[in-house]
Amino acid sequence: MPSAEHDPQALIRRLTALRGTDLPVHGGRTMAYVYDSGLAGLDELAADAAAAVAGVNGLDMTAFPSVVTLENEVVGRAAALLGGGRTEVVGTFTSGGTESCLLAVLTAREHAARTRGVTAPEIVLPVTAHAAFHKAARLFGLTPVTVPVDRTFRVRAADVAAALTERTALVVVSAPSYAHGVVDPVPEVAAAAAGRGVLCHVDACIGGWYLGHLRAAGDLPAPPAFDLGVPGVTSLSVDLHKYAYTPKGASVLLFRDAELRRHGWFAHASWPGYPVVNTTLQGTKSAAPLAAAWVVLHRIGTDGYTELSRRVHLASRQLADGIGRIPGLTVLGSPDASLLAVASTDPGLDPFVLADETRQRGWYLQPQPAWGDSPANVHLTVTAAVADEQRISLLLAEIAAAADRARAVGPATVDPALAALAAGLDPDTLGPHEVDLALTAAGLAPDGTMPARMAPVLATLQALPPALAERLLPEVVSRLYGG
Ligand SMILES: *Cc1c(COP(=O)(O)O)cnc(C)c1O
Repeated sequence: MPSAEHDPQALIRRLTALRGTDLPVHGGRTMAYVYDSGLAGLDELAADAAAAVAGVNGLDMTAFPSVVTLENEVVGRAAALLGGGRTEVVGTFTSGGTESCLLAVLTAREHAARTRGVTAPEIVLPVTAHAAFHKAARLFGLTPVTVPVDRTFRVRAADVAAALTERTALVVVSAPSYAHGVVDPVPEVAAAAAGRGVLCHVDACIGGWYLGHLRAAGDLPAPPAFDLGVPGVTSLSVDLHKYAYTPKGASVLLFRDAELRRHGWFAHASWPGYPVVNTTLQGTKSAAPLAAAWVVLHRIGTDGYTELSRRVHLASRQLADGIGRIPGLTVLGSPDASLLAVASTDPGLDPFVLADETRQRGWYLQPQPAWGDSPANVHLTVTAAVADEQRISLLLAEIAAAADRARAVGPATVDPALAALAAGLDPDTLGPHEVDLALTAAGLAPDGTMPARMAPVLATLQALPPALAERLLPEVVSRLYGG
């Protein structure tokens, strides 16, 4: 008999108990991080597909040809949707949006070095570009050149054009941006980039699958042009683990042609081991996310996704209209997609307190600190699970009630003396003692557990200079992991 600690059922019970402390992943109440189609049986189907390829190693696609077929079918669907009808479009399946963005940047850096002799590459990024591109710039040694956005949080093509130099390896635009859900003017930016012989990546990680199928719905207003059919667009990332509702670990990076794609691949024959060709950043590679994505894509199908997109579109519009009618709240930037950033027009109504209040009632809205001209707000990712009349009415009523309670609680404040002290700290020379002081002042426990009310922590974070916040945030995480 296995002892209790090895008993399969006891282990699963323990896992289930641990999961009880997480945000729910189904039901539409968690409006960030998770994507729920609301369709029954998908998790089980995906789990079966993952189990069927358990142990397969995508590292060697010649030894496991099944991964080639699965990947070709998955990438083929993405290319059919977002390839702009260009038959030369190819792609790569990756572990997620971050890996797709990293690979797009690495490919562009190598392309610029090999075809244009660029040795100190720059990457032009609207300030609204996803953090993954800053990570890529850091990892791969590109200098980020940031470009401001207009009042609707869209970049202006003229500003991008002015930022281009002979060292620019890549220009990035979002379709849509994560923070505000708006689509940058892709045709104008791509044309400016092409005019200088520079590559242009469309980050459609979050919205590509949704917007592409919305376009197919035909009877709804067409989304702005954003895919590889737009002249000058050279690559595009689209996450399947977002609006394709597949299990986590699934994204596609499309390229205008195979010649461009090859620049991001890594080949190595100068060691005593096996000949290496890596098409992604990984070595040994699970086939589970690929098989799970493959089965879900086929199961839902084009008509299924079109219907899901239609429902998400209508729900997003209803939510945006309804939130706009709640006194003291406003939706930022006239979103093009299914992401809403809700800010406050009432100084007595703190969006972070609003988020705490909705969370206590079982709805997770994601706080986004103020940055540049973007005020503090809460982010809502609208997925199909929330897209029915009753749930939308319930959510709007919850937000209205939470706004009233947030006004009664009052805004979270930061002690000005503390803020002044923090502003004087040098992030580069901060010792453990100062880190402890700063985190305690921000309201965090020594073991890293988060307080039930996050508004004071977020208010403090928002008041810190970004370099100091970037020094302190990893310390918070380090405490969680026992550091
Ligand atoms: C989610 C997202 C990413 C990064 O994707 P991950 O899957 O979280 O790694 C990149 N860009 C945008 C616009 C996103 O929304």
